Amino acid sequence: MSDLSPEADPAPEAAPEAPSTAEGVVARSTGSWYDVLLPDGERIQARARGKFRLIAEEIDETNPVAVGDHVEIRLEDDGTALITDIRPRTTKLSRRAAGRRHSREHVLVANVDAAWCVQSVFAPKFNSGFVDRVLVMAEAYGVEAGVVINKADLMVGHKKAEEAIGFWISLYESLGYPVLLTSAELGIGVDEFRDALTDRTSVVAGPSGVGKSSLLNAVDPALDLRTGEVSQKTQKGKHTTTFYTLYPLAAGGYVVDTPGIREFGLWDMTPPELGGYFVEMRPLIQDCRFPNCTHDHEPGCAVTAAVDEGTGTLERYGSYLYILASLRRGEDRGR
Ligand code: GDP
Ligand code: ZN
Repeated sequence: MSDLSPEADPAPEAAPEAPSTAEGVVARSTGSWYDVLLPDGERIQARARGKFRLIAEEIDETNPVAVGDHVEIRLEDDGTALITDIRPRTTKLSRRAAGRRHSREHVLVANVDAAWCVQSVFAPKFNSGFVDRVLVMAEAYGVEAGVVINKADLMVGHKKAEEAIGFWISLYESLGYPVLLTSAELGIGVDEFRDALTDRTSVVAGPSGVGKSSLLNAVDPALDLRTGEVSQKTQKGKHTTTFYTLYPLAAGGYVVDTPGIREFGLWDMTPPELGGYFVEMRPLIQDCRFPNCTHDHEPGCAVTAAVDEGTGTLERYGSYLYILASLRRGEDRGR
């Protein structure tokens, strides 16, 4: 009663308990441990509840939690955490993993909004086949895509290079893909690339040496990615462990650095589906005689007719045939 009496028990001062749960994004996965990035920038090591592994097995996925997953965690006394919930994924990029009896899906990255393919003017020179694979992958998984052409500084004074790069820029722009011409060295186009990456999750893919790391460092110096250390030659033939890593951007949003392109197996795609992921072929395909036309040998094919007559913009038909052949050999469908 006598609240004011000095003898009254002091109000039981609850020890200011740290919130025991938090929301975060998975930045890295090593199989059994995950790096979870909290909104305040803190990183915490977490394990996943055993039930997620069982669920993953049921739906034939190899990994219950993927980089890019939005998760709820419970903080443990030892400073680690337990992933207690995985939010539904909006998108995912995956590859096929060989299993004991049948191949399973390995989710590489979840919740990706956009994929950017980085190329360079020279050293290494622009590789449209690589670009088309990334664009097909993006179309297949339903994420936006764009092209970055770096090392623009090397083009100055090279008329032939200017013409060639001009051709690729207008081709990809005419197909509806944004194209950015950049120089990490001179800081050209860096602001535009940063704007494109802000407030979303973007996968950035490119062959070694194009300046992807330099460019991302220019976008956000805090990333501090290693640059210029891997030469094209030493990379070849060497088995590199591939870790997808998600980085927060100071401007907002995340980038996911991808170690290579071979990973983007178009693993559940059948040959007749491929044409639908070449945006310029889409309007033609409905006029093909056979619904399962693969647009290379079939009679009554509207695509090959357009190629033969030179109508329509089918500059990428060669790329199409190349990817089609790899799908037929089964390279993209797992071993
Ligand atoms: P990554 O393998 O794609 O991550 O490429 P790096 O960022 O490691 O860069 C590879 C090499 O290209 C390094 O020697 C960089 O200094 C160089 N480089 C990167 N960006 C540019 C650029 O815009 N212009 C020029 N001339 N060189 C660049
Ligand atoms: Zn056809």
